[in-house]
Amino acid sequence: MKDYKEDDYLMLSGIQHYAFCKRQWALIHIENQWEENLRTIEGNIMHERAHNGPKLESRKNLLVSREMRIFSSSLGISGICDVVEFKKCNRDEENAVTLFNREGCYSVIPVEYKKGEPKVNDADRLQLTAQVMCLEEMLCTFIEYGYLYYGTTRRREKVEITEDLRKKVKEICSQMHQLVEKQYTPKVKRTKACNACSLKNICIPKLMKNSSVHDYILKNIGSEEL
Ligand code: SF4
Repeated sequence: MKDYKEDDYLMLSGIQHYAFCKRQWALIHIENQWEENLRTIEGNIMHERAHNGPKLESRKNLLVSREMRIFSSSLGISGICDVVEFKKCNRDEENAVTLFNREGCYSVIPVEYKKGEPKVNDADRLQLTAQVMCLEEMLCTFIEYGYLYYGTTRRREKVEITEDLRKKVKEICSQMHQLVEKQYTPKVKRTKACNACSLKNICIPKLMKNSSVHDYILKNIGSEEL
């Protein structure tokens, strides 16, 4: 198993960009391009709400940690969990962990906050799986599931962390590191996702698709006499 140096860690949140579009991920994480649109602004507000309140809150059988920093040296990623719930459990449960300065044992459950409604693709589930894999590596435990909370439905969706999701996260992390090493931005591949893409004005998929700059100028300005 590869052990990445801290300097080479990539942003965990990039996994959802990569799952959405490899080019979008490269524009943001290799070329440092970013453009806010309504969706990204709404998403930021949602995360700020999740991070409101004390960083560590103790309820009856539950400890709630907000903005917990996480990393995995084997995947070469780091990030922040919106919320991690530590739920009191029996010592003999296989995923039980002990916590510094706390009595008893706890099971670990991450909760990721998302604006909008559950997506048909796996982008959110992959991001949650990457969080689980980081927490497992940091806390030497096994986590069977986590939750995605959606702003539109105001409900939590339970996500089983399957072998398939874990395999995909490993593949994505490995591919992202290879692209960073090569400093390569994948070419435009137009899909329906382009309509909702926060970088469509930077990526300019239409211009890339058209046969020539001449056609583009004629269409957008009406004359090539400049
Ligand atoms: S506009 Fe389309 S091809 Fe370009 S980055 Fe966005 S989703 Fe990817």
